[in-house]
Amino acid sequence: MSDTRERELLKAALGPPGPELGCDQCFEELDRYVELELAGADADAAVPGMRAHLEGCPACREEYASLGAPRELTPGVEYRRATVPPLAALPRAPFDITPEQEEIRRLCRDFAANEIRPVSLAVDEADTEVPWEVWGRAAEIGLTSFMLPEWLGGGGMTDCLTGCIVQEELSHGCAGIGNLITSNGFFAEPVLVLGDEAQQRRWLEPLTGDRPPLTALATTEPEAGSDAASIRTTARRADGGYVLSGQKSWISNGGVSEYCVVFATVEPGSGYRGVSAFVVERGDEGVSWGPPMRKMGQRAIVNTELFLDAVRLPADRRLGEEGDGFRGLMRTFDRSRVTLGASATGLARAALEYATQYARERVQFGKPIAEHQAVSFRLADMALRVDASRLLVWRAARLLDAGERATTEAAMAKLHASETAMWCTWAALQTLGGWGYSREHPVEKWMRDAKLEEIEEGTSDIQRMVIARGLVRD
Ligand SMILES: Cc1cc2nc3c(=O)[nH]c(=O)nc-3n(C[C@H](O)[C@H](O)[C@H](O)COP(=O)(O)OP(=O)(O)OC[C@H]3O[C@@H](n4cnc5c(N)ncnc54)[C@H](O)[C@@H]3O)c2cc1C
Repeated sequence: MSDTRERELLKAALGPPGPELGCDQCFEELDRYVELELAGADADAAVPGMRAHLEGCPACREEYASLGAPRELTPGVEYRRATVPPLAALPRAPFDITPEQEEIRRLCRDFAANEIRPVSLAVDEADTEVPWEVWGRAAEIGLTSFMLPEWLGGGGMTDCLTGCIVQEELSHGCAGIGNLITSNGFFAEPVLVLGDEAQQRRWLEPLTGDRPPLTALATTEPEAGSDAASIRTTARRADGGYVLSGQKSWISNGGVSEYCVVFATVEPGSGYRGVSAFVVERGDEGVSWGPPMRKMGQRAIVNTELFLDAVRLPADRRLGEEGDGFRGLMRTFDRSRVTLGASATGLARAALEYATQYARERVQFGKPIAEHQAVSFRLADMALRVDASRLLVWRAARLLDAGERATTEAAMAKLHASETAMWCTWAALQTLGGWGYSREHPVEKWMRDAKLEEIEEGTSDIQRMVIARGLVRD
């Protein structure tokens, strides 16, 4: 048996590194310990505290505390320190961006490195908890409201391309936390598209402060997912206002949001024609939320059901005219699908970087696995798909920013980028072999996170349907 093989077996026998065993010192000590064992020396005496290291490394804890993170999110839930390498250099932008866009790109990259990555695995473990501290810090530097107009107190970077630049960088840190940070944009879009000035001031200005509330958008129902025009939640006219009754499913920021745009029909059975948009506030009588749903990934965002039990709303809660809701929803999706594509691109890029780094270092059959053609070709395919996703995303964003309809291009961007995220996280896991399957590395989490990108805001089938319709119609 070779020395290397023996070393691997001994390490395996010592058991996997403890949850905090992520620092170089730990690995060095473990190597020294193994060296001594192999030489037949008394390793336990020579490297005192090695076993304690395996159960939880004080050095790592110290280093970790000096970062000011993580906080214990849930009592009893341990922080896992994965061996996430430092972030690689920013990829070259596919075309020129403004100095402001370049600046926010760097800001978000740094925020992802310093604030998001250190807690992302803990947030995943915590399962159904909002990482309020990260949310608060993002709000302080304007990342939760940069997309809102200046006249409402927002950052005034209302173009879709900037939204995509921000989203890719934040999701490069963690897709769940990245999507949480920009989630108020999803609520704001129908308010901006359909609402009047008073409504925009009422519900959007509070989102631009230092401690903004979270918001939500509710269209999906137990019986109406992809077919959003078939919703059954009703808005019955009464006393100059409306009474909303029904149930919504899967609502992101459910139970923790202050305001929620709810889509309901004023004319049951009329399909998209009756769909209208309303804003429901947290304290409205008859509004209640289900318990947090336990999810596969992107756990930084809490999802719940929403119950509307004869909720009485005055007429000024309606956004736009009766029957305008479906148009507002589709306009929202045209934009949100592009930024979701950017999120998927950031996630896929993280997987590419991680797999590349690992493949450079992992030696099998006497050379780094990156030098085995099957592995290197897989890395090449990952890089190709990530860049293609960014190009599709930026193209759709540019079209929207030029004031053009980009329904087909938005669907292409979302479809390609989300399938790329899924494929690249699979490819990264494959590149790590058995270690990819371990929770010591972040790729299994990234793979779970990626799956959602193929589902929400229209599944991949629905994106293909939209693209095909565009082809046939033209
Ligand atoms: C984590 C998470 C967060 C979410 N957040 C929100 C939110 O904030 N607000 C909100 O309103 N909703 C939200 N959703 C709901 C999400 O948008 C829906 O799950 C999605 O649109 C699919 O609907 P469905 O789950 O009912 O699946 P279904 O529509 O029942 O689809 C089931 C399967 O059938 C396929 N299918 C359906 N129709 C067709 C067709 N015509 N042609 C081909 N294939 C078809 C689908 O592609 C899918 O594979 C969220 C979902 C998740 C999982």
